[in-house]
Amino acid sequence: MSDRIPVQIVEIAEPSPVKKKAASSDGHIHTRSFTGLFRNLRIGGAGFLFLLFFGTVWLNWGGRQAVLWDLAESKFHIFGATFWPQDFILLSALLIICAFGLFAITVFAGRIWCGYTCPQSAWTWVFMWCEKVTEGERNQRIKLDAAPWTLNKLARRSAKHTLWLTISVLTGLTFVGYFTPIRPLAEELFTLQLGGVSLFWILFFTGATYINAGWLREAVCMHMCPYARFQSVMFDKDTLTVAYDPRRGESRGARKKDVDHKAKGLGDCIDCHMCVQVCPTGIDIRDGLQMECIGCAACIDACDSIMDKMGYDRGLIGYKSEHTLQGGKTHWLRPRFLGYCTVLVVMIGALMMALNQRPMVSLDVSKDRGLFRENNLGQIENIYTLKVINKTQQRQQYRLRLVDSEGFVLHGQTEFSLAPGEISDLPVSVAMLADRPDSSSKEIGFEIVDRDEPGVYSIARSRFVAPLNR
Ligand code: SF4
Ligand code: SF4
Repeated sequence: MSDRIPVQIVEIAEPSPVKKKAASSDGHIHTRSFTGLFRNLRIGGAGFLFLLFFGTVWLNWGGRQAVLWDLAESKFHIFGATFWPQDFILLSALLIICAFGLFAITVFAGRIWCGYTCPQSAWTWVFMWCEKVTEGERNQRIKLDAAPWTLNKLARRSAKHTLWLTISVLTGLTFVGYFTPIRPLAEELFTLQLGGVSLFWILFFTGATYINAGWLREAVCMHMCPYARFQSVMFDKDTLTVAYDPRRGESRGARKKDVDHKAKGLGDCIDCHMCVQVCPTGIDIRDGLQMECIGCAACIDACDSIMDKMGYDRGLIGYKSEHTLQGGKTHWLRPRFLGYCTVLVVMIGALMMALNQRPMVSLDVSKDRGLFRENNLGQIENIYTLKVINKTQQRQQYRLRLVDSEGFVLHGQTEFSLAPGEISDLPVSVAMLADRPDSSSKEIGFEIVDRDEPGVYSIARSRFVAPLNR
């Protein structure tokens, strides 16, 4: 445990004097806007994610919505492929791979997921931008908060909430559109004909977006997100985190630009509080690594701009490991990181193989509730219902037969065709050829084979029940 970075829990109820600079009297955090490399990276990353989220749902592929989780039909369409409930083991595997990917990234570079790609952060930054556009910069917003209600305040607040609600409705509509075809859904919404379940879920996700990104913001990261709680366990002394270099920055203090601050015993931190004023969670990174830090790097951009103005080297705040902060070197390739990467590569390989070998025809068998009966040939007979699914995107011809079932004969339709994605419930009977069974229950197998591609098949097993004494 000695190689873990201790995470400092900063008391929220008693904000330090510095924290008061980030918040107005009502405790609301008013962040200062800023520019810089990491802000541009975040805009690029979040812009790409927004494009994916809002754009993909409108794409069509093969005559239907390209990505659609059709709950009514229990099918998941993703471009040319269709997945069924039987394939959801693959989805579970994909989720486990994503979790390992997140672990590997966290070991390597801390909470960059939170800062750059987490939907909570991305939507919050967009809502903060709306706030800036409608209510002005940080100081104007603090004044507006404190000002009495006037027409100007009412107009600015209304504009902000209108923008927030518009984005929230579009988010709710898009999200539900991944589960119900988006085109008719949007038409019904905008012609006020939407009803029932879809309306409920659109309102639910609209409300969740508006409350989470508009009002709760950093509180979601600090108090509701489980990842924030356990990510510190994955950190080691080589994990890159957003950190302030106290050996270089202290002792902090104001000074004029051209003063030889080293001669006065001052470090490079001019104690301007810019890093605090841009922080969306309102913390002071100079207090050390804190659970509230979402790794957005806003303080790096802010501090770099101050360093530029002062003529000092950039990087007083930056992505640093504990080893670097102690004057050592960061070890990039270390056992824990390599371990996660290895597991990740193996799991991705296994998933690819499973996807490649996924049977494109599915067969399930259920036995009728009646135990057995005698047919008109005097044979003991059992009745079964076979559920056959054509998982391909083309019409297919199939042949049905018994396998590993010596002494039994199949009655019913054995050759048939299914349309793309069609599910068929096929009633069949199996009769026993022997007069006297040597057991009251025997396993039998059904096999469905694609007539054009014999390599595409599926086997399902059931039991044949017969009376021992006839
Ligand atoms: S922005 Fe940089 S110089 Fe200003 S207070 Fe923060 S660490 Fe110090
Ligand atoms: S301390 Fe810096 S990196 Fe952490 S949340 Fe605040 S601004 Fe973002």
